[in-house]
Amino acid sequence: MESDSQKFAPLPPDPVKPPLPYFKDPASHCWPGIHFTEHICLYLTIDFTNKRLNGRAIYKVRKLEKAEQLELDIRGIHIKSVTDPKGNNLSYTAKEDESPVGGILSIHIPTSKSPTTEFIVSYETDGCGGGSPAGGACDWLSPPQAGGQPFIFTQAQAIHARSIFPCQDTPAVKAPYTAIVSVLPPYQHLPVVMSAQRMPSASDDPVGSTRFHCAVPIPSYLFALACGSLNSRSLSPRCMVWAQPDVIDAASEEFADVENMLATAEELAGPYVWGRYDLLVLPASFPYGGMENPMLTFVTPTLIAGDRSLVNVIIHEIAHSWAGNLVSCRDSCHFWVNEGFTVKLERRILSKMYGSGLEGLAAIAGRQTLDEYLAAVGEHHKTTSLVTKLKDGEDPDDYFSCVSYEKGYNFLLWLEHCVKEDYGADFHEFLREYFQKFKYQSISSQDFINMFQKTFPKTAEEVDVDLWLHGTGKCPDLAPVDTSLVEEASSFAKQWLSFFAGNGDEDEESVYKRAEESFKDWRSKFGEWESKQKLCFVKELQANIGEGASINKGVVWNAKCASVMQAMCDFNSTRNSEIRFAWCRIALKAKYEKALETVKDFVSTQGRMKFIRPLFKDMYHIYPRGTYAKELFDSLKDSYHSIARKMIEKDLALEQ
Ligand SMILES: [Zn+2]
Repeated sequence: MESDSQKFAPLPPDPVKPPLPYFKDPASHCWPGIHFTEHICLYLTIDFTNKRLNGRAIYKVRKLEKAEQLELDIRGIHIKSVTDPKGNNLSYTAKEDESPVGGILSIHIPTSKSPTTEFIVSYETDGCGGGSPAGGACDWLSPPQAGGQPFIFTQAQAIHARSIFPCQDTPAVKAPYTAIVSVLPPYQHLPVVMSAQRMPSASDDPVGSTRFHCAVPIPSYLFALACGSLNSRSLSPRCMVWAQPDVIDAASEEFADVENMLATAEELAGPYVWGRYDLLVLPASFPYGGMENPMLTFVTPTLIAGDRSLVNVIIHEIAHSWAGNLVSCRDSCHFWVNEGFTVKLERRILSKMYGSGLEGLAAIAGRQTLDEYLAAVGEHHKTTSLVTKLKDGEDPDDYFSCVSYEKGYNFLLWLEHCVKEDYGADFHEFLREYFQKFKYQSISSQDFINMFQKTFPKTAEEVDVDLWLHGTGKCPDLAPVDTSLVEEASSFAKQWLSFFAGNGDEDEESVYKRAEESFKDWRSKFGEWESKQKLCFVKELQANIGEGASINKGVVWNAKCASVMQAMCDFNSTRNSEIRFAWCRIALKAKYEKALETVKDFVSTQGRMKFIRPLFKDMYHIYPRGTYAKELFDSLKDSYHSIARKMIEKDLALEQ
């Protein structure tokens, strides 16, 4: 056995507070108010040939109440043995379950006077990434999908860490971890990266293994691992980018400003406690924009636009270093505590670095996204309240939407607006104190509200906090934002829409000639606009094209309009994935067939859910009976991440 000092990192200065004994996260089988994980040490072996992880996990658990059974969440995990530190077998039962929350590993803990207990679980994962129906955390890419070498990356949010190792898979539990990772031949030369600090090997570590340490306590969903053909490039003394060899040059160019962003975030939110801030650019099937894995943000290659125009996603992930990672939501019902605060901090950083016009653009775009979502699901849908009512055994992924982000942001923006009026106070000063007060902890919405009420009693009295937190549908109030850049873009969008309103039975060529004449000056101006403003323009068009593709004054947005727009602006060839996405959506609405190749190319070359889910849905609705969408999805589904595949199957009603 390794000595304690090698096995476990020192505990943080502020110990993590466990929840009350009766606390239960609906998406977990554990009782963290009875047994609370204090530390995890993982020995992992990556087996690319069989697509398995072999693991030996050592746990140190605080005993808070008398109980002989301890439950851990598992999914797709085969348990080999459970022992005490001396190697004596402990009795256990491992029950797999097909439900979204998976199975339970129940361990008998012998009674003792010690306030903590230690035990060791040997296991292996099942080789299919946790299996169905909810998918798993591990994505195994074949050599052709990942630059000639196999590749693995994990995505543990929301409840997939349980398919990597048995754990108390709830954000109510935060613990530091140590990991010692080996790769089986013939791939032992491939570098491993983790959401942790790389450490020198200890004397008894397996030969060729890499040791990692995450000394700051994290919830299980922030555990992350990747291994494959990767190069690294330094960006500053504490920042580095990892990417596949063919992407590393473009990536280090695109993300060169990371140190500035991090420094600006620190000025606003307080000290950065994590040490390093590295980035990992993943292969194209990564289903998210970014994942805020601590010390190593995972990002999609769709952020590489060639002109740094999408780096606000990096600012978002940096903001998570305080909101979500340092102060975490207690369970998925309070997920907005992670995302709403992150978006608030992200947009303040954006404003500080690039001006309030850009914050305004982002805020208005966010409000449009929220309106569209509310229109699609209905004002009373269960996902439209900030605090959700996730039920026992339900999949938190089913509640994932823009509501936590955008309604959360607008709630905080409204509080900021009122606090300024009532007290003349700077809300971000208060947020900095909030991060200090709750650092290393997991909190509920009420913990935040209690602090807010104490600091700003007058405002707390005026604002209908209950309506904001528990009401479904629209934001109760909207704070003013800087709309200068938005107004310019939207006034041109409106001119275009009224231009099309007059086209009647005119043929395409003559509409184009009139457009060239009417928008001669605008065309050159448009060429110089910032990408975000171009995006705002396309989204403004999008917002005015309603059901049945009708626009204001009853004129139909048809293929002719889209074709003229394409001839004037050449949206089909943009490299900015956000503009491309918005354009694909309005082109599909117009049934503009020449854009179909662009859509097909877009959904074939990346697997980011934000883009591919709506595009498949659009194609499904536009083409009768969804034949085209279903056939295209069928030909591409193997290239997508299991989470993305699962969600699209639901969207297209392909579930068995
Ligand atoms: Zn986020």
